[in-house]
Amino acid sequence: MLPDIRSQNRDTLAAQFASWNQPAYRLDQLLRWLYARRAASWDEMSNLPKALRAQLAAVYSLNLPQLVTKQGSHDTTQKFLWRLADGTLIESVLIPANPALYGEASDRHTLCISTQVGCAYGCRFCASGLDGFKRNLAPHEISGQILAIERWAATAGPESRVQSPKSAASSESRPETRDAGPGTPAAERMVNNIVVMGMGEPMANYDNLMTALRTLNAPWGGGIGARRITISTSGLAPRIRDLANDPLQFRLAISLHGATDEVREKIMPVNRKYPLRDLTAACEYYVTHKGKMITLEYILIAGVNDSLAQTRPLADLAHRLHAKVNLIPYNTVEGLPWSRPDDETCEAFASALEHEGVTATLRREKGHDIDAACGQLRLKTERAETNSEDAKTQS
Ligand code: SAH
Ligand code: SF4
Repeated sequence: MLPDIRSQNRDTLAAQFASWNQPAYRLDQLLRWLYARRAASWDEMSNLPKALRAQLAAVYSLNLPQLVTKQGSHDTTQKFLWRLADGTLIESVLIPANPALYGEASDRHTLCISTQVGCAYGCRFCASGLDGFKRNLAPHEISGQILAIERWAATAGPESRVQSPKSAASSESRPETRDAGPGTPAAERMVNNIVVMGMGEPMANYDNLMTALRTLNAPWGGGIGARRITISTSGLAPRIRDLANDPLQFRLAISLHGATDEVREKIMPVNRKYPLRDLTAACEYYVTHKGKMITLEYILIAGVNDSLAQTRPLADLAHRLHAKVNLIPYNTVEGLPWSRPDDETCEAFASALEHEGVTATLRREKGHDIDAACGQLRLKTERAETNSEDAKTQS
């Protein structure tokens, strides 16, 4: 298989163009097709000579994720299920920055992206790890989620509520109506915030993740500010240190979910490898090196980690790391026994933290009704597909 062109950085492509004796402006034209116009085929690149397009096609593949299904309406959280070139499924969740209250569409969006197919970390409450780990996403499959959504929005239009796979395919040939990309401020892109909180453990696919994020951040690529990109990890301490040593200012969120080893170990096997002492030390290293605030994510799961006895050690950790705390009532997952605490328990937990002087926000989980917790849509679709294949073989 050929390497995908969107997994290459500008320097590599510049060297390739130089070896073909192509003038520098041709590279700028190409990059514009890739990241501003989000091209899905070489044929679209009408201002590049045909011979150059053929040369490129002989060396690189050019793939964007293909839309399989979309759930949710345009003024709320929408979930996208994509099929990759090898047939595997991944998902992304699009969240409007200001959910439209009076029917006005919001044009600023946060996109939650996946970094792996499945997950090897097996947190007990999470749908992403249920069927284990399949593979890492390549850089272009990570950045492609943003480009494919923007391409979809530009061609299908925000009024398009449900996109069938058939109409998604036919929209590929429609002309672009929006434009953004190299040199354009993030505010002009449809996706101007990225949270790496979809399927998979981003830090376990560190090199590909960083290649993708550098491209999304670069002025010749996505032009999205590093401060608008948040990476969430279940706690891979050595990679947190690597991120601290990286010159780019990406934000960091830690999926804590337990403030003592005893509680955390019950729900997150990763805690045995990197117990809280190691995780906290790595976070301290990040905070002092970057001078940036981190976020501690804490899902509230009934009877597991929602006791008020957890608020003191959680507050101690938050103070030590100068971190704020995001409290997220658990999103139920089909087939798993966990549930969210009632509203009073969540409020009491948040108040107790605030009482300890911690900045805590209690999030009403958006998209509860559309399986927005990571991994669920893919799992359902994959299982449905397997079942229908089983049914076919049996009949
Ligand atoms: N692997 C990374 C990023 C992906 S998970 C990590 O664990 O941080 C993104 C976030 O979703 C994590 O905080 C994870 O704990 C949370 N999450 C997983 N399943 C959930 C569920 N059913 N309800 C609410 N949050 C969930
Ligand atoms: Fe993997 Fe994150 Fe889910 Fe844990 S919470 S299984 S690390 S995706």
